[in-house]
Amino acid sequence: MAIERTFSIIKPDAVAKNVIGEIYSRFEKSGLRIVAAKMVHLTQAQAEGFYAVHKERPFFKDLVSFMISGPVMMQVLEGENAIALNREIMGATNPKDAALGTIRADFASSIDENAVHGSDGQDTAKEEIAFFFSDNELCARTR
Ligand code: UDP
Repeated sequence: MAIERTFSIIKPDAVAKNVIGEIYSRFEKSGLRIVAAKMVHLTQAQAEGFYAVHKERPFFKDLVSFMISGPVMMQVLEGENAIALNREIMGATNPKDAALGTIRADFASSIDENAVHGSDGQDTAKEEIAFFFSDNELCARTR
């Protein structure tokens, strides 16, 4: 299996719950390595741009408001099959459907406030990483 990179956000609800470390621990225990990270309070323009694919959806306005309601922690995760692996440990979009032990089952309160974002494919991973990180912010995990 290929080594991939994926883009991840710990959303404002989970940052407010003070569970960044718990979520990072799950990334690390699953074999994902953090190769870039930063805490950002998104602007409205950044949130609208990032979620532009959803702009015609009925939840778009509320989603943008939620994403700018407090700081987020964003990171690039690297590992074998990182995109699907991260989606697996995140759990389903709606925490009611999320498998036991997943991040969303444990930390999300609703489909609107669902704790984490993770890229859903190779093209989106590349685009989303480039949306928030420049190449020189991505660290090769070699020593
Ligand atoms: N979302 C929402 N209401 C919905 C569906 C989605 O607020 O009815 C939000 C939710 O935060 C979700 C994001 O929009 O994480 C993107 O939706 P998508 O279907 O791409 O889910 P994801 O890839 O995050 O699991």
